[in-house]
Amino acid sequence: MLNQGDRNFLYQLLDNNDRYLSQILYFTNKLYKIFDDSVEIICVDNECKKYRSTRGCCQDCYRNNAHFSHARQLTLDLIFKRFKFNKETGFFVDGKGCILPREFRSCTCLNFVCDDLRRELQLRHGGDILGEIETIISMISRIRYETIFPT
Ligand code: SF4
Repeated sequence: MLNQGDRNFLYQLLDNNDRYLSQILYFTNKLYKIFDDSVEIICVDNECKKYRSTRGCCQDCYRNNAHFSHARQLTLDLIFKRFKFNKETGFFVDGKGCILPREFRSCTCLNFVCDDLRRELQLRHGGDILGEIETIISMISRIRYETIFPT
């Protein structure tokens, strides 16, 4: 969940457009509800159990500019400064995992769900939970790309 400071920061990026802010928060809240219990079980300290020593899917964060490829440079500069992008580790912090709130992560990061986590999510939620996640993420991507991350 976003704290007030990060929420204000999102406002700033969205140019104070309330409609987009409430839409983004609506969809990201859904994601937090679906993911967080399962992430606590599958990821130890937010690190991947299987690839603990290599930071799993986040190991290339610093090399790949946190997987951002379409963001406006100005937007990226603001995000990198606020959340302190580290030239050696990216946004990954040992023992903490990704310090970037989901609202600000690249679509690559939002989209990635490993097989173990998929299985856990399916067990917990049943139905077409994976399809539901895909739909939510595509909605977030669409809103963001229309506003703060235009191509
Ligand atoms: S931004 Fe966060 S989720 Fe994405 S690769 Fe970096 S540490 Fe991992």
